[in-house]
Amino acid sequence: MIKKSVRFSLWTLTAYGDDDTDKALKSAESEINELEKLWSVTDENSDIYKLNESGSANVDSRTADLISFALDMNKRTDGAFDITLYPVLKAWGFTTGEYRVPDDDEIAGLLENTGSDNVKLDGNAVQTAENMQIDLGAVGKGRAGDIAAKKLKDSGVTSAILDLGGNIQTVGLKPDGGKWKVGIQSPFGEGSFATLSIGECAVVTSGGYERYFVQDGKTYWHILNPKTGKPADSGIASVTVVGNDGGLCDALSTSLFVMGLDGAEKLWRESDDFEMIIVTSDGEIYATEGLENDIEINSDLTDEKVSVIRR
Ligand code: AMP
Ligand code: MG
Repeated sequence: MIKKSVRFSLWTLTAYGDDDTDKALKSAESEINELEKLWSVTDENSDIYKLNESGSANVDSRTADLISFALDMNKRTDGAFDITLYPVLKAWGFTTGEYRVPDDDEIAGLLENTGSDNVKLDGNAVQTAENMQIDLGAVGKGRAGDIAAKKLKDSGVTSAILDLGGNIQTVGLKPDGGKWKVGIQSPFGEGSFATLSIGECAVVTSGGYERYFVQDGKTYWHILNPKTGKPADSGIASVTVVGNDGGLCDALSTSLFVMGLDGAEKLWRESDDFEMIIVTSDGEIYATEGLENDIEINSDLTDEKVSVIRR
C-alpha cells in the first residue's frame, strides 16, 4: 500500500494504492488545473472571463454543465444562490482585497444588472444580459472535486481524500476500511469544533470568517444576499453540507448561509440529497439527523451540545 500526495497552495490530493496511483493523481491534478483555468474570473483565457467581457461565449461543455447546474440551484434556493453577483462583489472589494462599503444607491444600481434569469444557455453557447458578469466561486471547487474524484475512480483508485481549499471529497473508505475523520472548522477561531466520520462523500463548509473585513466596528463578509447586495445577515456563522455531490454541497453551503436556519431547515425537509451542520452567530450547533451518529463535538473548544434537526 502506497500513500501518494500532491500538494498545492490551496489543495491537496491524497490517494492510496499501488504504483498506478501516482499516474491517477497526476491526471486528477491536471484536470483540476484545467478546470481552474476554465472557471477563473481573472484569467484572460478562461471561459468566464471571455463571457464577462463580451456577454456571450461558446464555452467548454464542463463550463456549460456547471452554469446549467448553477441556474437550477438559483431556482431551488429561491434566488439565494446567484452567480450574477460579480459586479456587486467587486464593488465591495471582495475580488481584490481593496475593501470598501458601497452606498445604497451604488448597490441598487449594480443589482439592476443581476439575476440568474438573465443568463441564457443553449448547448455550449452562453449569453448574459448587458453589464452582467458571473462568477462560479461558490460552486467551482465542489464540482472540481466531483470531477477529480471520478477521474481517480475511473483510474482504479479505491481510497482517496481530496482537500480543495477546505472542500473535502473522498473516494471509498480509508485504506484500513475505516471511515475518514474530517475536522469542521470553528467559525469563531482556530481549530475544529467537531469531527465528522464519513464514508464516500463531499463535505463543504461556507462561513463569513473565510473572507471579511471590519469597518467602524462592523464586520462585512463575502457571501452576499442577492436581494440586498449586502453581506448575508441571517444569523448563521457557518454551514457545512455533506452529500454525494460536491458541486451540490458547495452551492448549498453558500446559499443556506444566505437563507438562515429556518430557510435551510425547510429546504432540507424538501430534499433527500444532503445533510447539514449549522453554527449560528451565537454559537449554537444544529445538525440534521443523518449526521447524528457521525458528529463528535470537540469539548476543548465548545460546551455546546448538538441540537438534532429531525424530519
Ligand atoms: P463559498 O466559499 O463556496 O461559500 O463561495 C463564496 C463565494 O461565492 C464568494 O466569494 C463570491 O465569489 C460568491 N458568492 C457570494 N455570494 C453568493 C451568492 N449568494 N450566490 C452565489 N455565489 C455567491
Ligand atoms: Mg459554496
